Amino acid sequence: MTQNIHEVLHRVFGYSAFVAEQEAVIEHTVAGGDSLVLMPTGGGKSLCYQIPAIVRDGLGVVVSPLIALMRDQVEGLRQTGVRAACLNSTLSPGEVVEVEAAVRGGRLDLLYVAPERLLGPRTLELLSRTRLALFAIDEAHCVSQWGHDFRPEYLQLSVLGERFPEVPRIALTATADEPTRREIAARLRLRDSVLFVSGFDRPNIGYAVVPKDNARAQLRRFLETRHAGHAGIVYCLSRRKVDATAAWLREKAGVNALPYHAGLDAGTRQRHQDRFLREDGVVIVATIAFGMGIDKPDVRFVAHLDLPKSIESYYQETGRAGRDGLPADAWMVYGLQEVVTLRQMVAGSEAGEARKRLEVRKLDAMLGYCELATCRRRTLLAYFGDSLADPCGNCDNCLAPVDTWDATEAAQMAMSCAYRTGQRFGVAYLIDVLRGRDTERIRRFRHDRLPTYGVGRDRDARQWRSVFRQLVAGGLLSVEVERYGSIRLTGASWPVLRGETRVHMRRDLPATRARRTSRAGDPAPPPDPATWDESLWEALRARRTELAAEQKVPPYVIFHDSTLREMVARRPATHDDFSRLPGVGDTKLKRYGDDFLAVIAAHAAGAESATQVARGRPVPINRM
Ligand code: ADP
Ligand code: ZN
Repeated sequence: MTQNIHEVLHRVFGYSAFVAEQEAVIEHTVAGGDSLVLMPTGGGKSLCYQIPAIVRDGLGVVVSPLIALMRDQVEGLRQTGVRAACLNSTLSPGEVVEVEAAVRGGRLDLLYVAPERLLGPRTLELLSRTRLALFAIDEAHCVSQWGHDFRPEYLQLSVLGERFPEVPRIALTATADEPTRREIAARLRLRDSVLFVSGFDRPNIGYAVVPKDNARAQLRRFLETRHAGHAGIVYCLSRRKVDATAAWLREKAGVNALPYHAGLDAGTRQRHQDRFLREDGVVIVATIAFGMGIDKPDVRFVAHLDLPKSIESYYQETGRAGRDGLPADAWMVYGLQEVVTLRQMVAGSEAGEARKRLEVRKLDAMLGYCELATCRRRTLLAYFGDSLADPCGNCDNCLAPVDTWDATEAAQMAMSCAYRTGQRFGVAYLIDVLRGRDTERIRRFRHDRLPTYGVGRDRDARQWRSVFRQLVAGGLLSVEVERYGSIRLTGASWPVLRGETRVHMRRDLPATRARRTSRAGDPAPPPDPATWDESLWEALRARRTELAAEQKVPPYVIFHDSTLREMVARRPATHDDFSRLPGVGDTKLKRYGDDFLAVIAAHAAGAESATQVARGRPVPINRM
């Protein structure tokens, strides 16, 4: 009970200091208080309840909706020497009995439970006879009916406050706006709870949005130049597109890609998720059904081939990249078609009018983000009530400042073309008219006699698509979703047509040029050339893979990439050196110290003659 929280951080988890609000949350929870914790994905939420569960007497109960991931979470803890187990529907009856016996015998620090299992009479009964350290409610936004991932079984968690009034409760989430926060606190009956919010910034993630040209070719180039052999997630809107994209990546681009969506049977989904977690360099192509709670630390990129419905979803999805703090990319291709599709989905949904208006507003904010000409991170953070003093230097707009141009005349041409053709045609047709193309359809409608016919010859189709996209995104034109995407004027079109308002647009660069001018086009740089050694890195990873396979666990529960990188940088030679690596606590030192020290020693012996080995200079992770 008197264990010091710093000592546990160091001895068990192998970290030297707390990050963000961790220390305050942990102290508050150890003292028995309730709290609501908001931290971005990768912000370090787990330690906020794991350390109090270890330090306080009794069992810490963690409620999580993500049963598919519990075994890995438990395995990760066991590797550090923490006594953990889970209770959910994937356990055999024999395993359940074993876990229950461990709970009764007081032999566990942490128990992960699915909400429906927790609320069953058998578990409630078991827990009421057990000394409890705390309840941690993970993914707490699932309790909110207005949130984006409501789960009815979460509502019943209010029972915890009634049945176990003296046990501290800590609710954790990465996404919750103001109303959602209030709803969480009320529904979970948090007593005088303290709200802990840490900054939402994820400085190691580079954000980029590129105008769509040929999405597959663009994705392929992005993967080849930036992320060959890396693990990542590619999001698409529909199941069909997921399947087609995954197949294409495998067959045509040589990427180790697997599909994941709700239309696949549970066995296939589980298998694909396992391979993503356990193998190196697997790319999952998925609908948004994939990702929540995936705490794989070394996801190097998240790519969107379709536009997310809101900035909240976008930030949550992209947040799955780079949890280990190493550089990662959030990359998206975006075109007018996405806007039309999403608007159609909103219009065609069963939701009530108020809900639809809300969804349209969220979609508009998302479009605004895509069309930004200024720092993307600043806008994202502002959306969550956070501010950033200076432009971030790690988004496409910061790295290659965007040129804007006075597009008033082009906007007038586009608008008058839509107007004179009767506001019945889609963008492709309007562009043909503007560019004066000679097509059967244009002749049939006699649009070759319009004054706008051919006035836009000096711009190519790509440039015109950019103009239309920006006009629609900015509300200066609208897309009639019920009528095949025909373009109509809006109230905001008239001042432009009358010359009262000027329009400025971002100048979209052709895909190839855009890449060359931004850092987003270069392969990821090696960590620090002075200390980096690719062959040692590979040797360490190979050893980790062997150890993981022997125990049938994901490689990252043995050591994160960030720990291996430090091994390369510092070349520890003794147990003492080894114990100072981040992520090495007592248990891992005992279990794996000799294994990895042997790899490093063998490598040094082999490399001595050939290389001058630069030793001992620690490199901060964020500089790698
Ligand atoms: P979250 O649940 O908030 O998404 P995690 O708890 O999984 O985040 O932590 C994210 C990463 O940060 C993990 O790799 C974890 O090991 C690491 N981490 C957490 N706390 C610390 C700390 N105090 N020092 C160094 N690394 C930490
Ligand atoms: Zn920026």
